[in-house]
Amino acid sequence: MNFLSLITGCFAMPAAENPTVAMMDAAYAHHGIDARYINCEVPPEKLGDAVRGARAMGWAGFNCSLPHKVAVIDHLDGLGESAEVMQAVNCAVLRQGKLIGENTDGKGFLKSLLEVADPAGRSVVVFGAGGAARAICVELALAGASTITVVNRGRERGEELARLVGERTGAVAKFLPWEGHFAVPAGSDIVVNATSIGLYPDVEARLDIDLDALQPGMVVADIIPNPPRTRLVRDAEARGCTVLDGLGMLVNQGVINIKYWTGVDADASVMRRRIEAIFGV
Ligand code: NDP
Repeated sequence: MNFLSLITGCFAMPAAENPTVAMMDAAYAHHGIDARYINCEVPPEKLGDAVRGARAMGWAGFNCSLPHKVAVIDHLDGLGESAEVMQAVNCAVLRQGKLIGENTDGKGFLKSLLEVADPAGRSVVVFGAGGAARAICVELALAGASTITVVNRGRERGEELARLVGERTGAVAKFLPWEGHFAVPAGSDIVVNATSIGLYPDVEARLDIDLDALQPGMVVADIIPNPPRTRLVRDAEARGCTVLDGLGMLVNQGVINIKYWTGVDADASVMRRRIEAIFGV
């Protein structure tokens, strides 16, 4: 079996405690997959060398994180559909001798969402317009969401994302500036926090939104993985919404990576338990 690797810029934690590495190792061990998922710190100017090394060594593929998600495209042989639309890659897969770039961030979110709701024909509100929001908006639009509303503090990034979704998918896309207290429009079906608000250590940080606009029947998803039970998750749960935490996206992008690289349908619960143990949930 080929080796799998994580090509990345830099991590705040030592590799041995890296949650993604631990989660992938847990899946490989559980399924008896004869592979390794290793963490390599690659400076931007060495990215091409690293990808050539992966090819030379016959790796089944690799993940890449910031700052490589866009730059890696120049070193690949092609792109999957959503990666092509969003022009960002977090997963390269060796297929018939070619390294193809995929984006499993958005696919992981979609897989997690599908456990509670199908976005087809639904109206989606996404807070944020960074890399994660981009992946989620494009993937939900390609999955048939009827409307994607991007709400962002910075106008330029928000408008650009709405334009991209409107031009490259079948969804109606619009941008609403996030100026002060924001009320989720009535009739919204799925609400997603794709900002970094609530990420450890600012665990009590709240989105500046009107909580009374969150209605039972809405799905409210937070992609913050640590802590999983953010203020938004707790606030939305208290108002009777169906909630999704950020571990679902994290685990499911890993499940999809493993499927792409090995063909194995990994057990998400094994991976989630490993991550929960690391985050002390
Ligand atoms: P980016 O830095 O690209 O984007 C951050 C976004 O958050 C921007 O839209 C930014 O708005 C917004 N934002 C940040 N702080 C505030 C604030 N105080 N008020 C309003 N808006 C704010 O980050 P990413 O998109 O890469 O990641 C976002 C989050 O998603 C991270 O916390 C990351 O941990 C999480 N994530 C989770 C994953 C998972 O698997 N669960 C996968 C990937 C990411 P503006 O444009 O105005 O600056």
